[in-house]
Amino acid sequence: MSAPASECLFCKIVRKEIPAALVYEDDELLAFKDIFPQAPVHLLIIPKAHCEGLGDLTPEVAALSGRILQLSAQLARDHGVMTGGWRLLSNCGPDAGQTVFHLHFHLLGGKPLGGKLC
Ligand code: IMP
Repeated sequence: MSAPASECLFCKIVRKEIPAALVYEDDELLAFKDIFPQAPVHLLIIPKAHCEGLGDLTPEVAALSGRILQLSAQLARDHGVMTGGWRLLSNCGPDAGQTVFHLHFHLLGGKPLGGKLC
């Protein structure tokens, strides 16, 4: 189910081994455009340190949760969806539809999102 960090798709994006449309980067966090956007604004926010998801939080990644929330609001503002409304979600495990097992948060906005989560 889970790839080791060396094979993890999002770790490869962190290491710049595969390209991504980056919208934010610092020492701890990365944000980039989802390759199959489900809304006009569809960004992925990830910690650079590998962990599978919310069920596998390392202390290092857990300590970043406040920064991830702050960054999501900043990106929502920067990408013009703060007023209209936006959604932040993380799929956790196969039943939730998680397909990439490196913790990530979807930031969605730019249209009425309704009940369709992602
Ligand atoms: P999940 O289904 O919640 O695990 O979300 C994984 C997301 O990663 C999906 O929305 C994919 O479209 C997205 N994705 C997969 N590969 C890439 C990529 O190479 N760049 C950007 N987004 C990707």
